[in-house]
Amino acid sequence: MPTKTSVLIASIASAVLFTVAAPTPEASAASITKATYQTTDALNLRASATTSSKKLLTIPKGKSVVSSYKTGNWYKVSYSSKTGYVSGSYLKKKAAVKASTVGTSFTKTNYTTTDSLSLRKSDSAASTKLLTIPKGTTLSSSYKKGSWYKVSYKSKTGYVAGSYLKKKAVVTASATGTTFAKTNYITLDALNLRTSNSATSAKLLTIPKGKIVTSSYRKDNWYQVSYGSKKGYVSGSYLKKTTSSSASLPPVGSAADYSGTTMYVLVPFNDSLTLRSGASSISPSIGTLPRGSVVTVTNALHKTKGFVAVKTSDGRYGYVEATYLSLFQPSMSARPLVVLDPGHGGHDVGAARYGIYERDIVMSVAKLVAERLSKTVDVKLTRYTNDYYPSLTDRSVISNAHKTNIFVSIHINAASSTSAYGAENFYYRGNASVALSRNLQNNLVNSIGLRDRGIKFGNLAVLRGTNAPATLTELGFLSNANDRAKLVSPSYQQRYADAVANAILSSL
Ligand SMILES: [Zn+2]
Repeated sequence: MPTKTSVLIASIASAVLFTVAAPTPEASAASITKATYQTTDALNLRASATTSSKKLLTIPKGKSVVSSYKTGNWYKVSYSSKTGYVSGSYLKKKAAVKASTVGTSFTKTNYTTTDSLSLRKSDSAASTKLLTIPKGTTLSSSYKKGSWYKVSYKSKTGYVAGSYLKKKAVVTASATGTTFAKTNYITLDALNLRTSNSATSAKLLTIPKGKIVTSSYRKDNWYQVSYGSKKGYVSGSYLKKTTSSSASLPPVGSAADYSGTTMYVLVPFNDSLTLRSGASSISPSIGTLPRGSVVTVTNALHKTKGFVAVKTSDGRYGYVEATYLSLFQPSMSARPLVVLDPGHGGHDVGAARYGIYERDIVMSVAKLVAERLSKTVDVKLTRYTNDYYPSLTDRSVISNAHKTNIFVSIHINAASSTSAYGAENFYYRGNASVALSRNLQNNLVNSIGLRDRGIKFGNLAVLRGTNAPATLTELGFLSNANDRAKLVSPSYQQRYADAVANAILSSL
C-alpha cells in the first residue's frame, strides 16, 4: 500500500547500540546431527562462513532452518532456494529432525491452523514441502506420527506439525468464549472494532495499523479489546502478539545492521566520495574514494545521521555518506542511474496477511530487479534490509542526491475484500513518469498475466518529492489468494523482477 504521509515518532527515537562480533576463532568443520533451528533475529545468509563473504539474502526472525553441517559457529542452511551459512549466534535449536516410524490412529478430529504452515510429504521437517496451508484453515485428521498429523488439503495428502494445530471447539458459533492471560497485540493493518464476534455485526470504529491493544478474552478468532472509549471485538487475523505495552515500534530512521556488507561508491563518473574522520559533513577529510571503490560497512549505526562507518579496501577506516554507497557495482564509465525504492521497512510492514509482509516481498523483488539491471545501468536502493525504515522524504532525498534517470517505488496492495486483484501503477507529474508507469503496467499485465487495473494519478509523497521520472507500482493484492500465491513464489518474484527491469530499460 502506498503511504500518504510520513509519520514521525520522535518521542521513541532513541539510540540503538550494538556491538560488532569478535572474529570467530579457528574451528574445524563438521557434520552434525540434522536439526531444525529457529532464527532468533533477522540474519544474513552468506556465501561462506565469514561476515566478509557475499550476503545472499536475509532470513527473517522466527523462521525455521535445517542444518546438518557446521564450521566454527557457522551453520550451513538453505532458505528460499539459496544455500549458504548463517551465524549460530542467532539460531535456537528446535526438535531434532527424526521421522517416527510408528503412527497412531485416533477419532477423527477437526483442527484450526494457528499459523500458515507447510504440508509435507512425510513426518519430518526435512521432507518435501507439498504446499502451504494458510492460517485459520480447518483440517481434519485421524492419524499421527509423533507430533506430525496426517491431513489432506487441496487434493494433497501429507503431514503437518501439530504445534500449529488447535483442536476445534465443537461449540456452534461461539456462544462461549475463552479467558486467557492478559496479552498485548499490535494491529497489523487497520481493522474494525465490532459490537460482537462476527464480521456482520455493527462496526464501532476502525483501529489504525500499528496500534497496541490488550485482550484477555476471545470467542473463536474474535478478540475482545477496548480502543478509544469503545469496547468490542476484532478479528485475530490482524493481531500480532507483542511484548511491549505501549509504543513497540522501533525508532523511525533506526539503523539497520548491515555491518559487514561490501558496498560500492556510487558518485558521478570522474567524481569521488570524501572519507571523513567523523560521522558528519564538517568532520575533517581523511581521503577520497573514487567511483566504484569497494568498502566494507563496519558500523551502520551512524546511518541515523546519514553516515556509515567503513573500512576501505586498502585498510583505512572512516565515515562516508550512506547515500553514495550502493550494493551494486557501478561501471567505470557513465551509465544511466535507476533508484529502486522497496516500500515500507522496519516497523512499517505494509500490507500483511497470514504473517506475510509487503515489506519483505518488495525487498526481495527490488534486489532481483537490481541484479538484472546492474549489468547495464547503475542501481541504488533506498534500503537494503527489511529492518530499516527510510522516511518517505529520505527516499526522495536519496534519489535527488544523484542524477537519477528513473525512480521506481515497489509496493503490494491489500483490500478488505479478498476479490480485489491485479496490478496498477501511479504517476504524479510529467510525460516521462506517465510513459514509465504505462510501460511497467503493460509488462506486469502481459508477462505475469495480472488483471489490468490501469495507470492512475497518485498524489503520493514519495512521487511528489522525487525529481526524476517516477512511478509507484503495485504488483498485486496480498489480500487476494491468486495474487498472493504469485507474490510469495520465488519463481514469480523473478518474473515480477524481469517485468519491472524490462520496463525500466525500455523507458530509459
Ligand atoms: Zn505499500
